[in-house]
Amino acid sequence: MKRSLEELLLEQGCGWDPKEFTCSTDWADWKDMIQNSITRNLDSPLGLKYNNLREDMIESVIARVQSAFPGIRKEAYLRRIAFVYDDNTLTQEEKDHAISSLTMFKDRDNSLYSRDDTYKCDICHRSGYMIIWCQHCVIDFLQDEATKWTSMDKSIDRQIVHAQTRAPIPEAIPEWIPYELLRNVDYLTQGGYASVYTATYMERIIYQMEKNDKDIITRINTI
Ligand SMILES: [Zn+2]
Repeated sequence: MKRSLEELLLEQGCGWDPKEFTCSTDWADWKDMIQNSITRNLDSPLGLKYNNLREDMIESVIARVQSAFPGIRKEAYLRRIAFVYDDNTLTQEEKDHAISSLTMFKDRDNSLYSRDDTYKCDICHRSGYMIIWCQHCVIDFLQDEATKWTSMDKSIDRQIVHAQTRAPIPEAIPEWIPYELLRNVDYLTQGGYASVYTATYMERIIYQMEKNDKDIITRINTI
């Protein structure tokens, strides 16, 4: 019989009253519950993922739990996850998506700011600040990729690789784009030291990263 979240939490030594929420359990006990949601979400075919989900409902629940439990510490994150699990307005698939998004926010905050939790990678066995993916595997991958492109300026190349390793987060990873892969290049404005243009990128952007030994990075089309 499927156990309720309340039963699971009580089993793990967590009080359930929202105002008195306490959790003495080890992080490892949460890991499987969260990882299952993330894995189910990442395994969804990309095309179907958004079509079948009520994005506005998911965003509303995410906004609600973020407002109810502010902060970037693990305790706030666990409370948000617990309430998403217990929410009765979302389907399981929508909950998976919400938990995956909340976990990405948690990974970003932990990686860039709080750095109060570390997680061991099953592949390389190094510890990093992210739950969903391994920053070390991603950085290794990006550094290997860096041997396959060049801006023709070593200083710019170094800065791009440095920025990639500082924040290995999907959609925040800077990449060198050759001019021939840009279309619709339009002048936007003059900055302090350069002119700014907008353009359409004709290739696929880094969409998400995963903890596994082959497809570290998933790309999706931008157009
Ligand atoms: Zn790793």
